[in-house]
Amino acid sequence: MAEPLTQTTLNPLAQKLRLRLDEDQLTNCMRCGFCLPACPTFRETGFEAESPRGRIALMKAAVDGILAPDQAFEEQMHNCLGCRACEPVCPADVKYGQLIEQARDAIEDHTVNHRWWVKLSRRAAFNFTFPHQNRMQWIGRSLRFYQKSGLRKVVRGAGIMKLFPKYMREMEKILPDASSRGVVEQIGSRHAAKGEKIATVGLFRGCIMDVLFTDTNIHTVELLTEAGFEVVIPETQNCCGALHAHSGEAEGARSLARRNIRVFKEAGVDYIVSNAGGCGAILTEYDHLLHEDAEWEQDAKWFAKRVIDVSDLLVSHGRVPSFAESSALPLRITYQDSCHLRNVMRSSNAPRQLMSQVNGVEFVEMKEADRCCGSAGIYNLTRPEMAGQLLEHKMENANATDTHYLLTSNPGCLLQMKHGIEQHGQSGQMQAVHVVDFLYERMKKQK
Ligand code: SF4
Ligand code: SF4
Repeated sequence: MAEPLTQTTLNPLAQKLRLRLDEDQLTNCMRCGFCLPACPTFRETGFEAESPRGRIALMKAAVDGILAPDQAFEEQMHNCLGCRACEPVCPADVKYGQLIEQARDAIEDHTVNHRWWVKLSRRAAFNFTFPHQNRMQWIGRSLRFYQKSGLRKVVRGAGIMKLFPKYMREMEKILPDASSRGVVEQIGSRHAAKGEKIATVGLFRGCIMDVLFTDTNIHTVELLTEAGFEVVIPETQNCCGALHAHSGEAEGARSLARRNIRVFKEAGVDYIVSNAGGCGAILTEYDHLLHEDAEWEQDAKWFAKRVIDVSDLLVSHGRVPSFAESSALPLRITYQDSCHLRNVMRSSNAPRQLMSQVNGVEFVEMKEADRCCGSAGIYNLTRPEMAGQLLEHKMENANATDTHYLLTSNPGCLLQMKHGIEQHGQSGQMQAVHVVDFLYERMKKQK
């Protein structure tokens, strides 16, 4: 007779997994395979282990003691993009995103043998930089100095960039101009609604967003006030914690969540508006992130149910301004869904509706616009090969639209699309732009 399974008969990682993974979610998966065609890594490789069903089976086998999770298991968990395309198609409503984050958290907790430079960079990013917006701004200032002082020319001329990995070299070329001052420093933290006020909204400014895409934050405020919302930007808000949660740093994510909840509650807002799908998705899941924290559970629910993407808020509650294109030539635009906006916040119609309302613009639907572009947080840095394959497919579809603008709703997707356009030598024909920036410019033209 087989010995009953106990904690001690499991290997150390399996023990951590058993403590972290939600057993109900694991057993909810009925192995139907509906999620397989939606999964980019399965479609690229054709391997069951690279599919949501396969990864869930691996997790289940590990906690049941059938499989001793090893390096290959860890690799498999990290190969997942976390795009969550498997969730909307799942008939059993398996919360795959939660499972993969729990698995990565267990792996991170178990991993004691990170190389010194991995440990150092993780600590620098997750503990020292992202949680502190003043440090993000310091990075913004340094980057701006590099971009504007002539140093960039010297670095490129001396061939110093060749010392960096290919992907980083390519990204350096397409990084937008960084800002040394964030949205609050530039325009202040409170903005009155134009006309009769519909509601008071809190803008989630984001950490990277407020350094590399400050203008998008400013344009978001302009669109919202024009549509009838009073906008408050709480100054002491911090990073959303998405990168922490996706990288196995759940406690770090929880601590950031608590701080954000406190400042937005104090601001007394009706909605919390995000203009970045990646941030918005985790903000809507703060209730799950803190569901075991009795002190914060209720406040986290209060927060999560108020989070909404800017496009959704404009369409569902706002007085949508008029948008018009003034160029003589007919302008064609297309859209790449942000995976987290589409699959977690379940928003895909609102941005399309707004884009289709711009006078003088033809909206062209891109084939497989709902498929991940390969950006996926820092996936394009950690798994450049798979990210590159996905980007190639994306660019084939983007090029086939023959459009002038490729719009997105997330900074990571935006940079990845800029990268793809540059790689394909299309910068003269096509521009990647955030939906908010595109609409703001057309609102000005209409006026
Ligand atoms: S669709 Fe859902 S239930 Fe079916 S295999 Fe995938 S995760 Fe499991
Ligand atoms: S999150 Fe994306 S990559 Fe990961 S299993 Fe689901 S569909 Fe596949």
